[in-house]
Amino acid sequence: MDDCLFCKIAAGTIPAKEVYRDDAIVAIEDINPQAPFHVLVMPVKHFANAGVLADADEALLGRVVAAASRLGRGSDPLGYRLVVNTGAHGGQTVDHLHVHVLSGRAMQWPPG
Ligand code: AMP
Ligand code: ZN
Repeated sequence: MDDCLFCKIAAGTIPAKEVYRDDAIVAIEDINPQAPFHVLVMPVKHFANAGVLADADEALLGRVVAAASRLGRGSDPLGYRLVVNTGAHGGQTVDHLHVHVLSGRAMQWPPG
């Protein structure tokens, strides 16, 4: 995807603060953090959202969620939140699947 921000970040052509990378996954610090710890975990390859990746490669979706869970677990002993905004009503603004990992403060419910 030539015009996808997160494809460019995953490829290294746009800089970001990477906190994790393996052969298929990259995690970066969110540029506008909503909690003391806020990172985004995404596949290197482009998938528009969680449903698309679920249909295309369930194992990779599992790996993304597992990586996000481990980053969350390591970030705050009191817990963390994973968020996957999906589509316009889901609040998704970048159409390259990413899992938000938020921690470092008590989260509220319901979300906005
Ligand atoms: P979403 O609204 O769920 O699609 O999340 C997109 C996230 O990407 C937001 O939390 C933004 O702050 C974050 N974001 C946008 N541009 C960048 C960037 N260049 N580097 C890191 N995070 C970004
Ligand atoms: Zn992309």
